[in-house]
Amino acid sequence: MTTAYITHDLCEKHDMGEDHPEAPQRLGSIQNRLISGQVLDFLRWTDALPATREQLVATHDPVYVDSIFERAPLRDRIELDDETLMMPHTLEAALLAAGSVVQAVDMVMAKSVKNAFCCVRPPGHHAEYDRAMGFCLFNNIAVGTRHAINQYGLKRIAIVDFDVHHGNGTENIFREEPKVLYASSYQHPYYPFADPGASHDNIIHMPLAAGTGSQEFREIYIEQLLPQLEKFKPQLIMVSAGFDAHRQDPMAQIRLQDNDYGWVTEVLMDIADRHCDGRLISVLEGGYELDALGRAAFAHVKTLMRL
Ligand SMILES: [Zn+2]
Repeated sequence: MTTAYITHDLCEKHDMGEDHPEAPQRLGSIQNRLISGQVLDFLRWTDALPATREQLVATHDPVYVDSIFERAPLRDRIELDDETLMMPHTLEAALLAAGSVVQAVDMVMAKSVKNAFCCVRPPGHHAEYDRAMGFCLFNNIAVGTRHAINQYGLKRIAIVDFDVHHGNGTENIFREEPKVLYASSYQHPYYPFADPGASHDNIIHMPLAAGTGSQEFREIYIEQLLPQLEKFKPQLIMVSAGFDAHRQDPMAQIRLQDNDYGWVTEVLMDIADRHCDGRLISVLEGGYELDALGRAAFAHVKTLMRL
């Protein structure tokens, strides 16, 4: 079975300004690397469909969702927070980004593909139940996860987040949801300043000190995450795939290398193979050094394809 690559050209039209790190070129840098690595033809290319209001309000506060629709500007830019802006193409891109994960869930559950990579922006894991934050409007992975629970009756979904930032939004949304296990590795102390002690039955915090390299990162996953995943026996694994823990990324100070992204993907696929017939859905979050982002995402996608 194949890997779906779900994306949309309109996700590149969302543009928060020349100096903004969450730049439209991020998607092109991944796609170009997949082309030069000669794997794009072997992926199931799928154009994303927009999320519906019904799918969004299953995860987010309806008042918040409606406010995003109402505030969408016809010209210029407006600020949702200091670093999260809307311009005329933002709403369309945000709906496609959230919708792509819903589609991925449908494709993986129908067994038309084994796994999927949603190459979309804006990212999602900082978006909370009722607010935009940190470049994120809708929590894409949460919208897809809720769809998997509501539509397919899944009772155990693991979300693993290896973005360098803590996914405060995903935790905020699922903190009281026993059907979801949320595990996040993140630089600490660092934005958005999660409390590493704030663990919960279904929440795993894996704080990383600035300067953490490959070996320590792998040890933490092996010692802290894998036993918990084995115990949880997920029916589906969702991955918040941010590539900003790469050593070349200017945003933070974790020192992962390209092949660490292949490694972590392989480890999660092993769990998926053992517990859920390989079902795994990966969703792009951060990653801001364009060349490193392309290479790290390539290592991730190539591993999903088992090449
Ligand atoms: Zn990040």
